[in-house]
Amino acid sequence: MERTLVLIKPDGVRRGLIGNVISRFESAGLKVCAIKMLVPSKELVSRHYADNEDWLRSVGSKAKKSSEAKGIVLKESEIELGQKVRSRLIKYLSSGPVICMAIEGNESIFAVRKIVGSTEPKSADPSSIRGSLSTDSYGLADSSDRPIKNIIHASEDYATASAEIKLWFSESELIEYKRADEEIVY
Ligand code: UDP
Ligand code: MG
Repeated sequence: MERTLVLIKPDGVRRGLIGNVISRFESAGLKVCAIKMLVPSKELVSRHYADNEDWLRSVGSKAKKSSEAKGIVLKESEIELGQKVRSRLIKYLSSGPVICMAIEGNESIFAVRKIVGSTEPKSADPSSIRGSLSTDSYGLADSSDRPIKNIIHASEDYATASAEIKLWFSESELIEYKRADEEIVY
């Protein structure tokens, strides 16, 4: 069984979507093995969204593609755009309450990302959390100088999931238990 990190971002918490979000993971047979609420410090968020070139380039390329789709050619490099998004995220995530969870289950990293949906709510699959609970877009977020409000963060791969769980939880906060339906689900 695999573990992944999920954050319900301040927009999700303040909109009263905690229960809705958690129930989607639980209904898929995924198990919450750690959970807490906190207003994270800027320092914690900046370690979470680390100053990593590959990640900055990938985030920047999303921003660039969405602008180009509207016929706007940005002169900044992907890394520069990634840095802009990163500083918006650090400010935003540390601005209010966040629910932080470790979720366990069969290929949970992939399963959780599928249930969460793609980055932009406007174009995310309508049955996903992002696609069904928001319509926010790159365009609107950029024009307001803020990150896309897409309710959730979910780890992208195995290495990131392990590092992110270590960053947000101590070993003793990760609880091992059996869910009553485990023998039926698997
Ligand atoms: N983001 C944004 N504008 C962009 C790209 C990303 O506001 O052009 C924000 C958005 O909130 C996203 C977060 O940055 O969830 C992290 O970006 P990533 O590419 O890792 O997307 P995710 O893995 O969350 O789908
Ligand atoms: Mg990501």
